[in-house]
Amino acid sequence: MFGAIEAGGTKFVCGIGTSPEDLTIAQFPTSAPDVTLEGVIQFFQDSGKRFDAFGIGSFGPVDLNLASPSYGHITATPKAGWSNFDLVGAVRSAFDVPVGFDTDVNAAMLGEATWGAARGLADAVYLTIGTGIGGGALVHGELVHGLVHPEMGHLRIPHDLARDPFPGCCPFHSDCLEGLACGPAMQMRWGMPAALLPPDHTGWGLEAQYLAYGLANLTFSLSPRRFLLGGGVMQQPQLFDLIRREFSQLLNGYVHHPEVLERLQSFIQPPQLGARAGILGALALAQHAAAAGTRAAGGRS
Ligand code: ADP
Ligand code: ZN
Repeated sequence: MFGAIEAGGTKFVCGIGTSPEDLTIAQFPTSAPDVTLEGVIQFFQDSGKRFDAFGIGSFGPVDLNLASPSYGHITATPKAGWSNFDLVGAVRSAFDVPVGFDTDVNAAMLGEATWGAARGLADAVYLTIGTGIGGGALVHGELVHGLVHPEMGHLRIPHDLARDPFPGCCPFHSDCLEGLACGPAMQMRWGMPAALLPPDHTGWGLEAQYLAYGLANLTFSLSPRRFLLGGGVMQQPQLFDLIRREFSQLLNGYVHHPEVLERLQSFIQPPQLGARAGILGALALAQHAAAAGTRAAGGRS
């Protein structure tokens, strides 16, 4: 039996179960950390289950370095009250079992790799384009962490100020990918929520170009076998073909593989698990944590 937590900036989604088929889900608004965690832990305790492991996919930035004193903490977030909050510690103090921990986007990537649109692929990238832009990557079958964790939303991309005078809205970089292409950037540029822009508005062509630049850079650096694009902004179905076209033009035939040249429909596609990618990813993190815990115990005996 596993506990899964998708920790988001607006809500915590919690799941109890053993697989996607039997997962029971509840949601809690993200308020002050202690209040939020009290509700979350109560939910798991009230179930009366004995948990083998927990998995947490969290908004960030987070400390994923097992050797660090602040492992499992949310680090320098602008979100009031959450800076330096020990999320893994809070769960572990209530349930003394293995806890798998990763970014929300790495978790979604793992969910899609386990049960969704990246099943059987050892290399893939999951991007969410919503309030912010974030990405998780699978390379050689493993989630990429590196020094801290990738921050694909903050890729630097060309910005033609004559075509698009909007300066960008990232508080750190102004016109990084997120600063130019997240949902709020669209709203600030066009003066209305992205969801209300007509499907044939020129804003979508610009949006597709920025996202295609991001995908091109990720293709050149990570060489993924597939991109999964989710998040609120990608609820615009026309955006996929616009991105594929721009992406193709940017690569200009240089990446010589049929997946890119002939199968762009599947190379760039939506996640299959939809809104459940994050919580199912957290479930997969719990499964991995349980397996690792069992292996560690076996090694000691
Ligand atoms: P979050 O990133 O906060 O988890 P979402 O992925 O839902 O949440 O992203 C919210 C953003 O997506 C908002 O900026 C909103 O304007 C935008 N958005 C939501 N629905 C749509 C839609 N149907 N079309 C375009 N943009 C949308
Ligand atoms: Zn940025």
